Order: sequence, then structure tokens, then C-alpha cells
Amino acid sequence: MQVRNFIDGAFVASRSGKAIPVVNPATQDVLASVPLSSGEDVRQAAEKGRAAFPDWRDMPVVDRVQPLFRLKVLLEENFEDISRTMTLECGKTLVESRGELRRGIENVEVACGMPSLIQGWNNENIAAGIDEHMIRQPLGVVAAITPFNFPGMIPLWFLPYALATGNCFILKPSEKVPLTSQKLFTCLAEAGFPTGVVQLVNGGAEAVNALLEHPDIRAISFVGSTPVAKHVYGQAAAHGKRAQCQGGAKNPVVVLPDADLAETAAALAESAFGCAGQRCLALSTAITVGEVRGPLTEALVEAARTRAVGNGLNPDVEMGPVITEESKSRIVGLIAEAERGSGRILVDGRSSRVDGLESGNWVFPTMVDGVTPGDALAQEEVFGPVLSLMHADTVDEAIALVNGRAFGNMACLFTSSGAAARQFRNQVDAGNIGINIGVAAPMAFFPFSGWNESFFGDLHAQSRHGVEFYTQTKVVVERWP
Ligand code: NAD
Repeated sequence: MQVRNFIDGAFVASRSGKAIPVVNPATQDVLASVPLSSGEDVRQAAEKGRAAFPDWRDMPVVDRVQPLFRLKVLLEENFEDISRTMTLECGKTLVESRGELRRGIENVEVACGMPSLIQGWNNENIAAGIDEHMIRQPLGVVAAITPFNFPGMIPLWFLPYALATGNCFILKPSEKVPLTSQKLFTCLAEAGFPTGVVQLVNGGAEAVNALLEHPDIRAISFVGSTPVAKHVYGQAAAHGKRAQCQGGAKNPVVVLPDADLAETAAALAESAFGCAGQRCLALSTAITVGEVRGPLTEALVEAARTRAVGNGLNPDVEMGPVITEESKSRIVGLIAEAERGSGRILVDGRSSRVDGLESGNWVFPTMVDGVTPGDALAQEEVFGPVLSLMHADTVDEAIALVNGRAFGNMACLFTSSGAAARQFRNQVDAGNIGINIGVAAPMAFFPFSGWNESFFGDLHAQSRHGVEFYTQTKVVVERWP
């Protein structure tokens, strides 16, 4: 199968002539060939978007949201097919794929409320006989560049808000998982958007750089690793564009002795090993306080050893492979580096294999104790099913360890103490906080609030932040003599 771009209302081949295989990470089967689109493909999409913009922005918002209502229905009708496609190309379990798509659809639902969300402000009589209004207007053509790990959800963090606010939208999905976007655009093609309003350009760095440089593209939404997020943020600014760039993560969870042990261990195991640790909200370092160290370590070791790993299509499987051979080598390298230092491997998933699928990119759940704050395992993003353990004597010490990282995507606390929870929420240097929650993923009607090296920009994805990001304010001061 050849993956297509979707430009000017039709699925079309890229003009670049360059392509790479799309590989199932569990089986190594080649699923398709994806084009590495060129600047010419991007230029064509940008021009078609610019041509479609005047009519789209002038369509009343109550009419503009109607294709989104149809999109919601089409995504529900194709729910199982899209979820299966995510599992095939990304490796996660079917349960995880369904959960991901559900969170994506919720963003379509929220954006259907755009007639209310886009409202401005007004004051009558700011001076005698003078009124003042603030209205929101769309920017023009905007683009989103998305990563491999949530091929169904992350495009929908942006697309519904950009469209409902009256922009024309171009998606550049990860070249590792382009098939989910083919399904999404099959739904979008049926949903009734005017030609050129929503478009798809596949590819890698060349397409990204063309989007960053194109003068008609007014805003860039990005999700991916921190080095690329910084590149995109810098280049977008250099070309006069708005940018919101979500980067990598290194998420700590603190456990106090008064936490419910069984529930905490289950939540931590799911956070560290769910989606094979390839969530930007995956737990990476568990910090135990005081005497909970022994019993929690024991419970987590048991959870790591017994997690069922295999092909995500198998309903008994709880964890799939990592995305590529290169990912696997990087993860295995970080574990080996910790072992050469002060790390003590409690559970080693480096050489385990799945029967009958020996060539898959398998890294089984791994646990490393004795990690110190200066270790690569404590500072660098692993993006694999590796849980490090650290220990503290007090809550203050644990919060200092949490705040000693460069990333700020998520931090969580498990406790039954309201006072400790309040201190944690107040003092911790991260934008998404979980209290007795292992994956603190904001719902579609809240912003996805990464901080520090996990986010570059000011307005985040989802909800009212999306509305503000994709609109510019206009203030009108009016007198009628
Ligand atoms: P990535 O940075 O390799 O790729 C992301 C996107 O950037 C892709 O579309 C890719 O084609 C493009 N890209 C890659 N290299 C480029 C380059 N040199 N120049 C221009 N464009 C380039 O990320 P990934 O491996 O696909 O995804 C995993 C990363 O995404 C992890 O770091 C994870 O933490 C992060 N992530 C963050 C969030 C968040 O909300 N903060 C959510 C999901 C994933």
C-alpha cells in the first residue's frame, strides 16, 4: 500500500519520489510505504489552504462546526478499524488504542462547542456613548506536526480547534505511523469540509522545515522530542509564526507511607509499563518516602515480572513492543549505563523475547534501583518500559528530587494526607499534577500543561488554550454620534 497525501480535497501521491517502509513493530511486517514529501508538496497544500481560507473564515461558526459533528459520527462508526490500525503500526494494545481514540474524539466533541468557546468580551459605555468589544478571528493556514506514540489522539488535540475557529489546517503526522492518519482523513473527506480546508502532508524533516519556512503558514503546533521541539520553536519564531511545541518528559511519582499500597502499585505499574513506557506521561522514576520503600518495591517487582508482553492484537497482552530497533538499542544502552554506575537491576527485560515473534522490538518491563540524581537514567527521557527507583526520608526531600529535573510534563503523589497533597501541588515544578493518579492526562476541556523542557510556548494544546492559540484578538472601540 502507498500512503497518500490529502491535498485540495483528494488523496494524491507525493511529488518527491522518496519513500520509506512503515513497519509493524511486533512482527517486522512491512505494512505500507510512506512518502517523504518535499517542499513542493507543502507549497501546494499551503496554496490550496490559503485559497480556501476566505470562504471558510466567513462561514458562520454554527455552520463551521457541522462537519465536526459528522466527523464525530464517522470516527465512532470506524472506531474499531482505526484502533486496530493504531495497534498494527504503533504496537500498543487494542485496549490502549481504543482509549487513545476515545480521548481524541473528546476533542472533536469539545470543539463542537465553538459557538460559545469563541465568544469575545464587551463593555458598554467605557466612556459616555462609547462601547468597546473584543472579537476573535482566525489566523489563516496553520499546521500541526505530530509524534509516533499517539497517532490517533494527538492530531485531534489540534485539528478540531483549528478548523472550528475558522483556520485551514495541514497535518504532518509521524512518518513511523502514517496509516492512522489515512483512516482519519478518509473520515474527514466524508465529513463535508470544503476543499482545501483540511489537508495531509506525509513525511519527515524536509516536510517539517518546509512548513516552518512557508510564509502562508501562520502557526505551528508541534508534539515530539525536546531537541526537535526546540528546533521547531526557534524556526517558527524566526519565520514570524506562532508556535506551541510540546517536548519530551521524565515523570516522577512520589509515594508516601500512608498511600494505599495495592492501588498505588497497580497505578504505578500501569503508568511505567502501559504503552511500553512510550507515553509522554509515563512514570519514569518512583520516589519512595520512608518505610514504604520495601513493600512498594516488592509489589512493583511482582507487577513488572508478571506483565503479559506480546502482539497488541492479542487480547491477553498487556504491553506491546517499542517502536523501532533504534529505540530498543537506546533504551538497552541507558539500562547498561545505569548498571555500570550505581544502578542495581531488579527486573531485567533486555533479553526477553515473545515466542513466535522473536524479531519484534521487545523490551520487557525493567526496574533499576539505586539510581542517583546525576545518572542519565534519572535525567534523560527513556521512552521505554524502564522504572527507576529513588528513595527519600521526607516529603521535602522527595519534592527536591522531583524539582531537580529539567523536564516538567507530569509529577504525581500517592498519599492519604491532604496536607501533603496540597504542599506537593503547590511546590512541584511540573504542569500536569496527579494526586493518587498515575497518568495525569488532562481531559479535552483542560489544557495539556507541560512546563520547562517539556513545553515551548505559552498556550497549550486542547480546550480554551487551543481557541486562543488559533485566533487573534481584535478590539473595536465604537461611538455612534
Ligand atoms: P520526534 O521528535 O522524533 O518526531 C516528532 C515529529 O517531528 C515527527 O513528525 C517527525 O517527522 C518530526 N521530526 C523528527 N526529527 C525532525 C527533525 N530533525 N527536523 C524536523 N522535524 C523532525 O518524536 P517521536 O519519536 O515521534 O515521539 C516521541 C517523543 O514525543 C517523546 O520525546 C515524547 O515525550 C514526545 N511526546 C510529547 C508529548 C507531550 O505532550 N509533551 C506527547 C507525546 C509525545
